[in-house]
Amino acid sequence: MSRIALVSGGTRGIGAEISRELKAAGRTVVANYAGNDAAAQAFREETGISVYKFDVANFEACRDAIERIHAEVGKIEIVVNNAGITRDSPMNRLSREMWDAVVDTNLGGCFNLCRLVWDDMRAAKFGRIVNIGSMNGQAGQYGQVNYAAAKSGIHGFTKALAQEGARYGITVNAVAPGYVDTEMVRAVPEDVLQKIIARIPMGRLGHADDIARGVTFLTSDEADFITGSTLSINGGQHMY
Ligand code: NDP
Repeated sequence: MSRIALVSGGTRGIGAEISRELKAAGRTVVANYAGNDAAAQAFREETGISVYKFDVANFEACRDAIERIHAEVGKIEIVVNNAGITRDSPMNRLSREMWDAVVDTNLGGCFNLCRLVWDDMRAAKFGRIVNIGSMNGQAGQYGQVNYAAAKSGIHGFTKALAQEGARYGITVNAVAPGYVDTEMVRAVPEDVLQKIIARIPMGRLGHADDIARGVTFLTSDEADFITGSTLSINGGQHMY
């Protein structure tokens, strides 16, 4: 059976690799993105995966998109909440807009998609939800009060929703990546990046497929006794 999987932010970076891995595992994959049409089009041409443009922070936009996906592809059985942004700044320069953007996208987006697929998953007595948290949500990080709060929220959200889903065959887990070589991390200044790499016991940044393999396992039918867990994939940098 080809289960239908929605990957938010699934056209670039870690999300694109998650989409590819899920497809390779036999899923029918739908990848969401926010605004980078060129990247999404190139991804669609390369992979043959359908792409849907909408803002995960906007509940009504998510509702409309999920209705379209149901009509055009079918009922969603797997959701990977991967869409995320950073707006880094120390607290003394952190604006309300930077706070809202990060919390609304990373954490609000996770709520929006989970809420909108939840009733169908309960009715089907099956669902797999994987939320992409972050090592910096587990440990905190200078200049990332907004991001760490949102990602830490993801971890609490995951454990609470897992308790609600268990009796309906819905598993809810989180994956907490360390530093992964994507555009998000390439935005970090080179000297800071070198210091980060020096602190990773494995001596390298993660690759997107390191994360994608963990996500794919958690979405498998075989992972049906794992729920409320956080899988840390960080090269040994933070053992939580
Ligand atoms: P990228 O910036 O490479 O890609 C982000 C993806 O999310 C893009 O597809 C982007 O769409 C999409 N996106 C962003 N905002 C929205 C939105 N409002 N609605 C819909 N889609 C959106 O990020 P990464 O691959 O690096 O990160 C993926 C996830 O992993 C994030 O949640 C991030 O916080 C988390 N993470 C990343 C780490 C890293 O080191 N890279 C470490 C720990 C966690 P578009 O292409 O249109 O812009």
